[in-house]
Amino acid sequence: MEKKNIDWANLGFAYQKTDYRYVSNFRDGAWDEGGLITDDTITMSECACVLQYAQTVFEGLKAYTTEDGHIVTFRPDLNAQRLESSAKRLEIPVLPEGRFVEAVTETVRANAAYVPPYGSGATLYVRPFMFGSNAVIGVKPADEYQFRVFTTPVGPYFKGGVKPLTIRVSDFDRAAPHGTGDIKAGLNYAMSLHAIVDAHKQGYDENMYLDPGTRTKVEETGGANFLFVTRDNKVVTPKSGSILPSITRRSLIQVAQEYLGLEVEEREIYLDEVKDFAECGLCGTAAVISPVGKIVDHGTEICLPSGMAEMGPITKKLYDTLTGIQMGRLKAPEGWIHVIA
Ligand SMILES: *Cc1c(COP(=O)(O)O)cnc(C)c1O
Repeated sequence: MEKKNIDWANLGFAYQKTDYRYVSNFRDGAWDEGGLITDDTITMSECACVLQYAQTVFEGLKAYTTEDGHIVTFRPDLNAQRLESSAKRLEIPVLPEGRFVEAVTETVRANAAYVPPYGSGATLYVRPFMFGSNAVIGVKPADEYQFRVFTTPVGPYFKGGVKPLTIRVSDFDRAAPHGTGDIKAGLNYAMSLHAIVDAHKQGYDENMYLDPGTRTKVEETGGANFLFVTRDNKVVTPKSGSILPSITRRSLIQVAQEYLGLEVEEREIYLDEVKDFAECGLCGTAAVISPVGKIVDHGTEICLPSGMAEMGPITKKLYDTLTGIQMGRLKAPEGWIHVIA
């Protein structure tokens, strides 16, 4: 298979159409057989439930080339399970886990020419999503749905080296107590747009959201979970019912314990104690871990000892180990690497 003529190392993070996408429609109470199509557009009623009431959930994962030349994805079964819990919360019919993994596999395989080569740092981002597609004007769930998977090649996250982020404590909340903070839904992103535009205007890379109930505990950013390292090398990560359960964060916890022999605590983390931590990182599929160098709380600066030039040493070890597992340089735990081609 001949690769597309793409300058992989200089790709950004912008949508670029690839040749195939997977579509399955839910009608009369059942998902149809589904399959690959080439049309990248969607035609539906102006009154579709997704357009009026935001009935849509999504996933994000990446396909990439390992050291030995295989095209793989990382733990797609967990994306399937998370999409299921997201769908249930928004009254969207569940797509069986097997069908999800099959759809991702087929879509990536069909677009193999867009999977960046090993070592380029680029990946093929995979976006599965589902939405209520028929007209609904009174507020209720749709009767018809579409599940769709498209892919788009994206560039290396850390172009020209890792740069620790400066983030601010946000005055906005990203999730309500007992709301939808723990599901991957477009609605959680719609309300984060103003907060992130404003953060960028003020010179910050990201928002640190606090727990919506008391605004004293650390939750997450708009699209990544926090991971902290204490001064005695313990890995600590926030526990809350309104955080999106990041697959990267869950994998890093296991890596910390089983590969690096570190102690890990998942617990409530008060904003007050952040000044005592040695390292801070944001975890998500896109970057695996982005180091945080500085957190600004209404004029008070918390400068992490790891500084603004590089990742902290434990963060770096976690990053190197997980990316080593993903790229096939280190032995992966059973079931983590899904081989596509
Ligand atoms: C997707 C997402 C993450 C990261 O999850 P991964 O599974 O690691 O990619 C974290 N927070 C939010 C709000 C997200 O939507």
